[in-house]
Amino acid sequence: MTKALYLADSYQRECDAVVVSVKDGKYVVLDQTVFYPKGGGQPCDTGKITRGNEIFNVVYVGKFSGEISHEVDHAGLKGGENVHCSLDWERRFQLMRSHTAAHVFASLLCTGTGALVTGNQLEEDKIRFDFSTEKFDPEILRSYVDKANELFRKDIQVKSYELPRDEALKIPGVVKMAEAFPPNIPFLRIVEIVDIDKQADGGTHVRNLRLDRYE
Ligand SMILES: [Zn+2]
Repeated sequence: MTKALYLADSYQRECDAVVVSVKDGKYVVLDQTVFYPKGGGQPCDTGKITRGNEIFNVVYVGKFSGEISHEVDHAGLKGGENVHCSLDWERRFQLMRSHTAAHVFASLLCTGTGALVTGNQLEEDKIRFDFSTEKFDPEILRSYVDKANELFRKDIQVKSYELPRDEALKIPGVVKMAEAFPPNIPFLRIVEIVDIDKQADGGTHVRNLRLDRYE
């Protein structure tokens, strides 16, 4: 099982790794990785895997049967080799910002109106949200956007930690996605935006709502 370093530290941009296996020449599994695989509405990371001076561009990262698979642009990597991973950090940081912003907006709207999130898709420069709501009122939506923007100027911490599943599921609103109930595992990773939101969540987030660049 690949060690997912982004869960413990979403600001880690590089790591050394050992190639565990390679399928069809260009689907690479590593012993550990900083690359986030597409999932939970968050797009995958891109970047590079290097072996010595040779660069393999990581064009896609996905999770298949529980394994994180890195698709590289050309064949050549082999099991047992030592490599170095580095993220396209600009892209990742944008995604961390938009992911965290999405939590804030969803939390304000869900708490304020009782709506549930039924889908979402993050991109580097925009976020799509689907909500179940009784009536659609653009004015109300805009007022929540304004409230969210106010919070992005404040010094509010974002933390993540694990809780036993039973305890985690007692937190009101810990699962906001109408469909996406967390997997049946003993511990759930909780992402907490202090005093605003607690979510069971496997994505990457910034450390503070005052979204300073490259802290
Ligand atoms: Zn999240």
